[in-house]
Amino acid sequence: MSSVSSGGERIRIDGGVVVAYQGGGHRILTDGVVIVEGNEIVHVGKAFDGRVDRTIDARNAIVTPGLINTHSHLTESPLDKSYIEDVGRRQFYYSGLFEMLPARSAGMDLEARQACVDYSMGELLRTGTTTIMEIGGLGDYTAQAVEKAGLRAYIANGYRSGRWYTPDGRRVDYAWDEEAGKQGFRNAIEFIERIDGTANGRIKGFLSPAQVDTCTEELLRLSKQASDSMGVPLALHTSQSTNEFQEMVRRHGRTPVEWLHDIGFLGEWNILGHVIIIAGSSWAQFAGNDLALLADAGASVAHCVWVFCRRGIAMESFPAYIAAGVNMTLGTDTAPQSMIEAMRWTAVIGKIMARDTSRSTAADVFNAATLNAAKMLHRDDLGRIAPGAKADILIWQRDSLFMVPLRDALKNIVYNATPEDLRTVMIDGRIVLDNGAPLFVDAAATSRAVQFAGERMWSEVQSGDWARRGIDELSPPTFPAWRE
Ligand SMILES: [Zn+2]
Repeated sequence: MSSVSSGGERIRIDGGVVVAYQGGGHRILTDGVVIVEGNEIVHVGKAFDGRVDRTIDARNAIVTPGLINTHSHLTESPLDKSYIEDVGRRQFYYSGLFEMLPARSAGMDLEARQACVDYSMGELLRTGTTTIMEIGGLGDYTAQAVEKAGLRAYIANGYRSGRWYTPDGRRVDYAWDEEAGKQGFRNAIEFIERIDGTANGRIKGFLSPAQVDTCTEELLRLSKQASDSMGVPLALHTSQSTNEFQEMVRRHGRTPVEWLHDIGFLGEWNILGHVIIIAGSSWAQFAGNDLALLADAGASVAHCVWVFCRRGIAMESFPAYIAAGVNMTLGTDTAPQSMIEAMRWTAVIGKIMARDTSRSTAADVFNAATLNAAKMLHRDDLGRIAPGAKADILIWQRDSLFMVPLRDALKNIVYNATPEDLRTVMIDGRIVLDNGAPLFVDAAATSRAVQFAGERMWSEVQSGDWARRGIDELSPPTFPAWRE
């Protein structure tokens, strides 16, 4: 037991089942005791004799580490809902990137983006995210919202040298502005220096050049150098659409991952978004071994299962990437921003693609959502319940309608839990969600604001669409309206 006294309140958590960390992995500690002092866990075991200020009775509950969500866009993703499902153009291999997202983004004003950030705080807390990695453009606003809601966050202001667009719904073109990319890079570094370590260390920064096909080699080289010298994660959307894969092969004669390897971009600070359309995958139909390059470099993948499987596209396969030695983490990317859903769909789609129920297990997805993400962040004080770790803790009800019968706590969380079963969330030693409700987020007000934001967006999508289509043409209603 280590006991670095932070002088804070000492809280005892009596847990019926504690998912505790020992010997390099998670272990099941039945009738365990977790002692939190200040923002740290100072003791984990079967008993504790010392003085405490307060006791949380979780004897009828499951105590787990908080989940680390490694890929999100809080300023936009809530407005994917009710819009982006059940549509997708064959020309773009069903990706929503080239038609649906530009139309959505054009319809979003600043107030809508802020409403999305505020709304996301409650959604993340209710579904188990304690550390969020956010890629967006409202870093300062997001940092304020995170500080108020009580989350832990890594925040990046994204930047790029160009943007894609489609002039006709048939092909993807690129409009370049190298100087804007470099200015965005300088602003992103200034942002990190300004916010890193604020909110008692809960807020940190990272770098996110946006996409492999919209950043020049020079911008990526500068980003990699800065990430290494600053010791911050380096995110990049990579191999996220068949069009992008083909574009990189056309430009360089290399897969996106091979090209990143060639220019020296890959390394242990990488958190590559998606990496779905790779050499050897059925959507690429292109020879090569991208997974070996990623594994050799120690790069990590932020796997966001839902944004792809919703379009009929799956990683081939989650267990195959693990077997290849790639450090796999989980993110939400789109709506819903739920790590419960991310773990469940990752496990199940992984089994389907591997045609093997014994792989892509509850252990694999829970490790991805905790320890693997902490490894990528170079943080041995996150993603685990152990002395010296930050007190980021979830308490799940174990006798609810959905959680009984309970024999294996992780199987029930991954395959059966609902957000209602998550009763208490502690982050940095502070309770931020209790009785299933976030304490520092006005759930009703933020939900109303995001509804209004959606209504404004739906009426404006035509301004961002190449064919000037309205909302019902871009995203046809599921059923026709009643006729009198
Ligand atoms: Zn993304």
